Amino acid sequence: MTQTEPSIFTRIIDREIPADVVYEDDSVIAFNDIAPQAPVHVVVVPKTADYRDVVELASGDPALLAHVVEVAKQVADERAGGEFRLIFNNGESAGQTIFHVHAHVLGGGLSEGTLGSK
Ligand code: AMP
Repeated sequence: MTQTEPSIFTRIIDREIPADVVYEDDSVIAFNDIAPQAPVHVVVVPKTADYRDVVELASGDPALLAHVVEVAKQVADERAGGEFRLIFNNGESAGQTIFHVHAHVLGGGLSEGTLGSK
């Protein structure tokens, strides 16, 4: 998609604003969410700004989506005993606030009833 200005996540990727980065490679970055909703809450973000949500990513670059899932698993292995909830918010009414595709990795002890509320 065409964006008029870089997303917060692009600015983190470009090191214009700080983040607590826990993983990075050529195509993906992962960092602690600034407003954690679980003991472990990491956001996994493809570096490309071409996809606004997981539906666009799945059709445009399924291998990159698979890589996001692999990184989520690696983060959970290192920080949450390997078990985790993986959330993609799609659209404003579903809670999406940043339109640069990203996965929320939640773990480390999730309470009942948090499905759908991050
Ligand atoms: P979503 O609501 O699904 O679009 O997720 C956006 C997430 O980005 C939210 O959970 C925010 O807390 C998180 N977030 C926003 N700004 C930052 C930041 N500067 N560093 C880390 N996480 C952030």
